[in-house]
Amino acid sequence: MSSKTPPKTPIYEGKAKKLFEGPEPGTLIQHFKDDATAFNAKKKGTIQGKGIINNKISEFLMSRLNDMGIPTHFIRSINMREQLVRAVDIVPVEVIVRNYAAGSFAERFGAFEGESLGSPLMEFCLKDDRLGDPFISEDHIFAFGIAQPEEMDEIRHYALRINDILSGLFYGHGIRLIDLKLEFGRFYEGEHEIIVLADEISPDTCRLWDLNTNDKMDKDRFRRDLGKTEEAYREVARRLGVLPNMSVVETPSFGGAAKKPAKGKATKVATKPKAKPKKK
Ligand code: 5GP
Repeated sequence: MSSKTPPKTPIYEGKAKKLFEGPEPGTLIQHFKDDATAFNAKKKGTIQGKGIINNKISEFLMSRLNDMGIPTHFIRSINMREQLVRAVDIVPVEVIVRNYAAGSFAERFGAFEGESLGSPLMEFCLKDDRLGDPFISEDHIFAFGIAQPEEMDEIRHYALRINDILSGLFYGHGIRLIDLKLEFGRFYEGEHEIIVLADEISPDTCRLWDLNTNDKMDKDRFRRDLGKTEEAYREVARRLGVLPNMSVVETPSFGGAAKKPAKGKATKVATKPKAKPKKK
């Protein structure tokens, strides 16, 4: 008989992660894959080493948020690709916070990519791949019974604080947080419901631009075939200092941009217009 342990069977497999039963009740093992998808999985690929990098980046950012009083599902690191998390009921809403126009926002409103939005702007999408994650309002969320008004108040409050904390944290490492997507979950302590930040925070779920050059350091490199995607993810990890043995995999530049983080003030970000802004 073989002494090998049989491979674990995931209880859930998503596009970028697998979930396994955790060692204690109420826990899960979150495993990060190298698989990448975009445009509702119409585009598929692999970003070498992404699983390790995103696991470490997410672990680092969730820990910093925990330190700042934001409850998260993260419990502890397990290995390079896996972390122990709390089992939660995911609220099936993608919470997007935008600081600068980009992506679908720039397209929908004919804005310049990189145009400052003045103050953070929040949007919600229904988490449903079959429907292509459509945009929804809080009225839809309440009408469909997805979440209660008090829960959405809490989610909005956390999302803005998370955006604030992460904007500052990334800025200190020469990175501009353009926008990010967050997911929240519920768990119960007796009768008491607690809302926590779940899923991941990584270059897969945030738009991150180099403060000096505006080079993209996130999944848009994969979505838009810009090349050097692995290098960009590694550069984010390197700047955050989350992979101390990075020197073995480090590449000196991506898109000609691996420069020192900016020390001075941010300059105007707006790049080329995508489309003419519409006049009302
Ligand atoms: P947009 O709506 O501009 O495409 O995306 C806004 C932000 O949310 C970007 O940072 C993007 O990476 C993130 N985002 C939106 N939907 C998804 C999704 O389904 N999966 C992932 N990983 N990120 C998403």
